[in-house]
This record gives sequence, structure tokens and C-alpha cells, in this order.
Amino acid sequence: MELNKIMEIDAEYYMNTFGKRIPVAFDRGKGMYLYTEEGEEYLDMFAGIAVTALGHCHEGFTKAITEQAGKLLHTSSIYYIKNQALLAKRICDASVADRVFFCNSGAEANEGAMKLAKIYYYKQGKEKYEIITLNSSFHGRTLATVAATGQPKYQKPYKPLIPGIKHVDINDFEALEAAVTDNTCAIMLEVVQGESGVHLCTDEYLMKVRRLCDEKDILLIFDEVQTGMGRTGKMFAYQTTPVEPDIFTLAKALGNGVPIGALCAKEFAAKGFEPGDHGGTFGGNPLATAAGMAVFDAFEKEHICENAAAMGEYFEERLRAINSPQILEIRRKGLMIGVQMPDGMAKEAQEKLFARRVLVGSCGGHTLRILPPLIIKKEHIDKFISELEAVL
Ligand SMILES: *Cc1c(COP(=O)(O)O)cnc(C)c1O
Repeated sequence: MELNKIMEIDAEYYMNTFGKRIPVAFDRGKGMYLYTEEGEEYLDMFAGIAVTALGHCHEGFTKAITEQAGKLLHTSSIYYIKNQALLAKRICDASVADRVFFCNSGAEANEGAMKLAKIYYYKQGKEKYEIITLNSSFHGRTLATVAATGQPKYQKPYKPLIPGIKHVDINDFEALEAAVTDNTCAIMLEVVQGESGVHLCTDEYLMKVRRLCDEKDILLIFDEVQTGMGRTGKMFAYQTTPVEPDIFTLAKALGNGVPIGALCAKEFAAKGFEPGDHGGTFGGNPLATAAGMAVFDAFEKEHICENAAAMGEYFEERLRAINSPQILEIRRKGLMIGVQMPDGMAKEAQEKLFARRVLVGSCGGHTLRILPPLIIKKEHIDKFISELEAVL
């Protein structure tokens, strides 16, 4: 179907939440590349917002989910589900978590984390319900996660928001300390803020936050929806820091495109949930958890985290070697890369790269967001750098 036709039907029938999109519809993908129906090839440096870590139509992954789809898609969590149990074990074996609960998205995982923090104290008879998050954070689009997201533009039309959520600036420990009360149940943050343009928490800050949580009996939640699954060069971003969270959440790359989210917690915190306290129809069904298992298999077999770490370094080296007044700052952790530009320039660079069939993201017009599949090789980075140089 022609793009114009798709755009016409979309304009008439799809809710107008995305406005004017980038004018392309992809038909298929292979590895680092996406293709239109007409066969035009695009280099994918965005991975569907850090989702398709294994690239498109990864052989082993595709085989695993195809086999599962031919066998069983969904039962219900009122029965035992083998893949659900096995994927939960896999995540626990790879992390500080002792227990996992599956859902369908990042927002839903964060909702679960916020509920778990509240019920954990509720069951101790404590009235702790306040949650502190950071300005410029992004935690999702449901009502509770919009309240947690520290960006007024997402919140304004939905007021009144759920009460008890405060926001403080990233890396401002004094402000965080001042925001804590006897009612604080959780501090939730992204080790690397993604949506707002790749902003990193410092190790020193995280160590102070951890100590504060221990002293004041507060649960520390890391939203690893974007940073999780190898994006930062380790399986989980907290593993690049000196601290451990009590609870963390996953989604984006966990299913490599098959929707799945995960709420992961240490045993003491996970105990907050007892039968009936939380649930969901689709969460962790046989297909979604087969996808998660296949992702872990590929990560191990192909040393995906190691590749993300090495290619991240190479990427930064190549970016820093570009001598352009339009590159103001490069922020990076693993293959989570933000290139700060003068106001408006990032949007323009994104459009020009698109015209040259290279896909990236941008935020606020000032930061180019580069989130390639983690299977990326030097040759793709070299190609990208020469395209970026041409655009600049
Ligand atoms: C994308 C994202 C979310 C929301 O995930 P959805 O699956 O879109 O609900 C939450 N937190 C972070 C850090 C994200 O990057």
C-alpha cells in the first residue's frame, strides 16, 4: 500500500496523539536495517526507542517466538506458565532481584513498582505513601506514571494527579534530602535519563541516595525500562554504578519488540505483594516470556553486553573526532547516546539524516538521541558518522 494511502487512513481513523509523523511506513527489517514496501533501505540508529536490541528479525529470536506462537500463545496466570517461571529465574540469576512480576509495558511495570512500595509499608502499618522522582524524568503515560514523570507538559491536562509525588533535580542531593519526610515510601529514578536527552546520575549522588534510603527506611526504585537489557554496556544500568536498587523495572528491550514489562525486587520488598494484591490478564504469557527467554539466549550466545560496551566507546571516539561547532556536548552510557546541539539543530539534523535514510531520535530540538540495536558493528558506526558529517 502506498504511503499516501496509509497516511490518509491514519489521519481519518487513528487518534491524533502522534500528529504529523515522520513520513515513512516500514514493511520489513533485517539486522540494522529497515525497508519500505518499495525496498528503500534505512539504517536504524533508534531501534524503536531502545526496543529492538537484537536488531530486526534476528534469526534465533524469530525462530523461538514463531515456534511458541505455533504451540501456545496465552493461557492465564491462574495456571502455571513454564516460560514465566523460567524467565523470572533468568532475570533473578542475572541481577540483585529475587522475584519478578510480568506485565506488558514500562508504564505498567513502574505502576507496579509504585504499588509495591506503598503496600510494603501499608502491611507494616506505616503511613508511607509519598514518592520522590526527578525533574526531566520519564516513567510512562498512565495516570500514576504521568504524575511520577517530572515533566509538566505531560501532566497539565490530567490534573488533579495522584497526590504525594514530589520532583527534585537530578544530582541535587540536598534538594532530595529536603524533600524526604516520614511519609516517603520510595525514591524512583533512572540511572540514565533517556527521554529527556541522556542525563546521567553521578556515582557520588547514587551512593548518597542509597545511604539516605537505608537511613530513612525508604525503598530505592530504579526505572530500567530503557537502560535495562544491555543498553548501558552491562545487563542492567545499576551494575555500572556502586549501588543496588531494592526494586527495578524493565520493559523496552526485554521482549525485543514483543510487549513485556517486568517488576523486579529483592525478597524483602517483593513480600509486600501477597495473593490478590496485584495482577493482570496478559502479563508474562507464554509468548511474551518465550520472547524474553530468546533475548537472554541471544545475549549470552552473542555477547551482546560486551558488544554494546565496546561499540559505545568506539561510537563516542568517532563522534568526538567530528569537528563541528554544532556539537556542543556528547553524553553517553554504553549505546545510549545524546548529542547536544544548538536549539532547533537536533530536529533539523534528524530530518536531514532521515532524508539520507538514517534513523535517529531527537528531543526538545536540542539533543540528537542515538539508540542503535546492540548488535551494531563498527561498519554501521562508520557509515553513520559519515552521514552525520555530511549533514553537519
Ligand atoms: C519508555 C519508558 C517508559 C514507558 O514505557 P512504556 O512501555 O512506553 O509504557 C518508562 N520509563 C522509561 C525510563 C522509559 O524510557
